[in-house]
Amino acid sequence: MDTGPTFSNSLAAADIATGLHPFTNARLHEQKGPLIMERGEGIYVYDVTGKKYIESFAGLWSVGLGFSEQRLVDAAVKQMQRLPFYHTFNHMSHEPNIRLAEKLVEITPDHITRVSYTNSGSEANDTVVKMIWYLNNARGLPKKKKFLARKKGYHGITMVSGSLTGLPNNHRDFDMPIIPVIHLTTPHLRTSGLDGESEAEFTARLLAELEETILREGPETVAAFIGEPLMAAAGVLVPPQGYWQGVEAICRKYDVFLVADEVVNGFGRLGTMFGSTYFGIKPDIMVTSKQLTSSYMPLAAILFTEEIYNIIADNTAKIGTWGHGYTTTGHPVATAVALENLKIIEERDLVGHSARVGKVFMDRLQQLSDHPLVGDVRGVGLMAAVEMAPDKRSRAGFEQAGKAGTKAFAAALANNIIMRVVGDQLIFCPPLIITEEQALEVVARAEKTLDEVEQYVRAESIA
Ligand code: PMP
Repeated sequence: MDTGPTFSNSLAAADIATGLHPFTNARLHEQKGPLIMERGEGIYVYDVTGKKYIESFAGLWSVGLGFSEQRLVDAAVKQMQRLPFYHTFNHMSHEPNIRLAEKLVEITPDHITRVSYTNSGSEANDTVVKMIWYLNNARGLPKKKKFLARKKGYHGITMVSGSLTGLPNNHRDFDMPIIPVIHLTTPHLRTSGLDGESEAEFTARLLAELEETILREGPETVAAFIGEPLMAAAGVLVPPQGYWQGVEAICRKYDVFLVADEVVNGFGRLGTMFGSTYFGIKPDIMVTSKQLTSSYMPLAAILFTEEIYNIIADNTAKIGTWGHGYTTTGHPVATAVALENLKIIEERDLVGHSARVGKVFMDRLQQLSDHPLVGDVRGVGLMAAVEMAPDKRSRAGFEQAGKAGTKAFAAALANNIIMRVVGDQLIFCPPLIITEEQALEVVARAEKTLDEVEQYVRAESIA
């Protein structure tokens, strides 16, 4: 059942002739061609043939308000007409930039008082590394430069943010990492726990690893710990109880900045405004993007404390400048769209909605645990994963990893649903606006897809 598009479409031919797609095997793409999307409506997208899909992954974890929010379009048009571009270098500013910063400070935890923009999550994490290096130099701590991150964590793809990312394929043949970064154990019991290890023992082992690493490297060389509160790209990995509290305490003890990468978790994804709120931690820096504009415009915001601001600000006075910024830092159209987006999230209580619908979604999804092909179901709020496994009594995956996943993606398309497949895991992260009824429909289509993949797995004996 290959649902790939045909080459008769001249757009597809042009794409193959001219493109190099992100996260794509280029030679395979030449054979398969692109699936070309044309328009969107609520949680649905339509391809160029008119076929309608539920977008149960919100594009790339990001289209919170769905694919047809007129108010975001109007906000963009209005700003384009008024002032399509202005920059924020050399004391310049414009209203959307200021209003959005005010709004972000209002909705973040009290200790966060400052905002700096970039165009993407990758640039934001790149900028965070620069900020921390700059301020540690300013503090007279020039050796304090190393970052701690986690294996399988995702923090972006530029040379520096990609170095923080802990996925081998994002380093391989790129000569990365290029900064000093140590990737610690992935905080997920099922994937990284030892045989027979309890959750509490696992947490203790992770925290011991963190502290031992800081002591081994020397606290005077360790600058920051960065992590997604709930790891997304790795496969929606829920950390063990007590993990984040422990990480926070160890960071405080050794003067290590705690950076929460909220690029996916932020703005309601876990049924709370931020992932840090969900896990009850107070990071020094929170990095946001994606649902900040529902991805209608590219934008990221770095949110941080007054203390960090003051150290940086003093140093700018000393050396004359904060020698950093992009032409489009705080772009007026992007910030105007973000402001409207946050207003809508608030007006419609989409954070509470995410918690409520997320519960219905997860309860129904948990029923798939009984499916013969399902090894694990997990998630929080409107973010979930269903892990396919050959034998549900064991943690082991398929011998031929990824085959069932590839099949599942194609079968899902045939069932008019787009989900993300990571290895043999099905990932769901639907728009925040999804209704209960639609969420149940997502699970129904996922179940049908699993039935079909199970037949395939049996027929091909890939277990
Ligand atoms: N951090 C996290 C947690 C992400 O999931 C992503 C992107 N998926 C990024 C950072 C990078 O964002 P961008 O793709 O906008 O550069």
